[in-house]
Amino acid sequence: MFESTMQKNVTKFVKITLFTFVIITLFLISCKKDDSTSSTPSTSSTTTSTTCGNTNNLTNIPTAYVTALTKYTTVNNTYTVNVCTEDSDGDGSADYMVVESTNRPKHKSYYWQATNTLYEDFDFATNLYKYAATKTAAGYTGTPASAGPNKILEQSITMKMPISPSEATTKSTTAMSTIGLALNGVSFFNESASPPDVITDELFTFDQCSGHPEKNGVYHYHVDPICLIRDLGGSVTDNSTTASGTTYSWIEDNNTNGGLLLGFLLDGFPVYGPVGDNHTDYSGASTSSIDSYNGHSHSTTEFQSVTYHYHVKTANLGGTNNKVFWITNAKYYGTPGSVTVR
Ligand SMILES: [Zn+2]
Ligand SMILES: [Zn+2]
Repeated sequence: MFESTMQKNVTKFVKITLFTFVIITLFLISCKKDDSTSSTPSTSSTTTSTTCGNTNNLTNIPTAYVTALTKYTTVNNTYTVNVCTEDSDGDGSADYMVVESTNRPKHKSYYWQATNTLYEDFDFATNLYKYAATKTAAGYTGTPASAGPNKILEQSITMKMPISPSEATTKSTTAMSTIGLALNGVSFFNESASPPDVITDELFTFDQCSGHPEKNGVYHYHVDPICLIRDLGGSVTDNSTTASGTTYSWIEDNNTNGGLLLGFLLDGFPVYGPVGDNHTDYSGASTSSIDSYNGHSHSTTEFQSVTYHYHVKTANLGGTNNKVFWITNAKYYGTPGSVTVR
């Protein structure tokens, strides 16, 4: 059977209309995604322009933040991180400090593709000894292994932090996705795993640098980023244990890196190293204890006026009830800006 010319024309018209509709819909969806503050990752390879345009512009960064934010532009010289500002309401003054990253560490990982020179094999049984205290506290009885087939994938992350961070009157909950960026451009995640997973089980899927990727390849740290601490000049200790004739080796924080800047959360407050026994402020005075948001206020090397900041703690020291076990607790201290992950 052959269609008549009229039927053909009708079919053609319907096809063109459908095609146009699909194109317009896709365009609208992509615009929506650009404006969205959703942090739902996507594996889309669509090339989109970034706020910073792949360059650094610290002109409108508040003076107190310049030293700290400049570190983003120098720490990762393999996968560039950019810093700039955004005047989102067009009134001529900047509203957000912006950090953009492809979320790829320059340190080694089991989770790199085997073709990447930064790929390094890892015996996950090492985590039984590295996180021995947690293993006992959490009653972990599993067999450590990699986090499935997940590998580190290039992302396009834009983090916008308020230009004048301050304590929020009503504290907001952190999401189970990017809540901040380390100085090497890698995501910080909070203290939770997506249910039904349990974070104290996921700990045993961490690579040799205390990170792992989620299902869309977003590599992240829930705890002390030990290789970043080492690469920033922090003090780490070589550790090893021999069990059943096999020697397991790892590096560990030695409790003296509390003054080391590691990155920022979305609310614009900095994240410092694990709180150790000798944690002091910039002038060497002892500091106040950590609050329920995993932070406190005092001067630091980068912020010589007293500033609020978070701390992380070495993962092998705590159980789930230790309030400074993770990068944050469930809530931000300040008002978070936004993050897009593509
Ligand atoms: Zn995770
Ligand atoms: Zn501190």
